[in-house]
Amino acid sequence: MSLHIPFDNSYARLPDGFYSRLDPTPVKAPHLLAFNEALAGVLGISRGEAVELARVFSGNEVPEGAAPLAQLYAGHQFGSFNPQLGDGRAILLGEVVGTDGARRDIQLKGAGPTPYSRMGDGRAWMGPVLREYLVSEAMHAMGIPTTRALAAVATGEPVLRESPLPGAVLTRVASSHIRVGTFQIFAARQDRAALQALFEHTRDRHYPEAAGPADLLRDVAERQARLVVQWLSVGFIHGVMNTDNCTLSGETIDYGPCAFLDAYHPMRVYSSIDRQGRYAYGNQPDILVWNMAQLATALVPLMEDQEAAVEEFSEIIHALPRIIRREWLRLFRAKIGLATEEEGDEALIGDLLNRMAGNQADFTNTFRRLGGTRARDEFTDPAAFDQWAEGWRARLEREAAPQELMDRTNPAFIPRNHRLEEMIEAAVGGDMAPFHRLMEVLARPYADQPEAADLQRPPAPGEEVRATFCGT
Ligand code: AMP
Ligand code: MG
Repeated sequence: MSLHIPFDNSYARLPDGFYSRLDPTPVKAPHLLAFNEALAGVLGISRGEAVELARVFSGNEVPEGAAPLAQLYAGHQFGSFNPQLGDGRAILLGEVVGTDGARRDIQLKGAGPTPYSRMGDGRAWMGPVLREYLVSEAMHAMGIPTTRALAAVATGEPVLRESPLPGAVLTRVASSHIRVGTFQIFAARQDRAALQALFEHTRDRHYPEAAGPADLLRDVAERQARLVVQWLSVGFIHGVMNTDNCTLSGETIDYGPCAFLDAYHPMRVYSSIDRQGRYAYGNQPDILVWNMAQLATALVPLMEDQEAAVEEFSEIIHALPRIIRREWLRLFRAKIGLATEEEGDEALIGDLLNRMAGNQADFTNTFRRLGGTRARDEFTDPAAFDQWAEGWRARLEREAAPQELMDRTNPAFIPRNHRLEEMIEAAVGGDMAPFHRLMEVLARPYADQPEAADLQRPPAPGEEVRATFCGT
């Protein structure tokens, strides 16, 4: 075998209670759909033939040095605590330390049933696999911390959802898969030794400077705050911000029913299972604070003086909305071209967003086109934009290089929901060209690419995707 992956598996060295060891379940006829050469290079993975890559990244062949396992975790799903979840369809092959010195997990998603599959089949179908591949890579290209995609392999087997669909396996790369829910499971079980081991592992891996749990909490909360504000700044709605989908590393994880805003509305929801709008676009900061409070609760048992810990952790959580607001202002200032700070900026931004919401203005195109003459066309009543722009232009006179700032803050290209649907339909029919074209354009989201103007167009009335699905 020519394919070599330089594994070094630190999670597998944690005690047995953290996971179940098992191999992926082989599939019938693996066929490589996509492979991320650039990422493979960073990971130090030697080049392999497509057939070999398909065998390894479908789980049919366990590469040398791997220590396959399913991780255990719990989590709050839509606010209610589930004391045991775990990888129900994902298997961690192991970790590698890349050529950049960073440690990363290599995980197969859709690799067959595990002890944590509950009623599920442990599989994924091609739609969500290619969707996650594209969206996670697009997020990375936008500069937003995220898990990444190394490979997508068709299994040659159907998976049964409402109808039979072609199966696939995604190889996901993450700086770790440690979740708020990973802490929650050991806290709920009152297993202080496990909690301590997990704390040390997480600290060594992500926050080597943290002196104790309070520092870790503060650092995670700050990273997550910056992350969620970055989501808001590109119109991203995660869709399932359960505590098991919230990483300690501060990376975006679990692209299920996520979506990007077309027309802006602060309460927009796409996920078909989010009936109450808990994870609506504008609720994401509040949910993050709630999730961080759950992490704080799970960390309390680590502290000698628990009463003092509750007080200290509460302060950290209560400081979070201020941090989020500060970050939000910084990014949204940049979105309208402001590098300096003035008293009226927040009101100016708020006024634009209100007008956008009232005029079904496309989120991405409005910001991208602010400096030109076309932003007004995004509004059902262009005069609503003109009125706002008057005050904004006066404010811009006190800025040195607003256009340049806006161009590198406002993406021209996002993975639009209707384009993702189109891409999936084509791929299921055997045509990967739309996938590859989207990958190529989304790799440079801040560059004007006139030949891809069709990918900037919001959905026409008949094309609009109203709901997204978990795809499990
Ligand atoms: P998610 O919504 O993808 O974050 O998944 C929530 C939980 O359901 C996790 O424990 C998953 O491993 C599990 N799960 C999702 N889909 C499947 C499936 N097809 N088979 C088994 N477990 C699944
Ligand atoms: Mg999940």
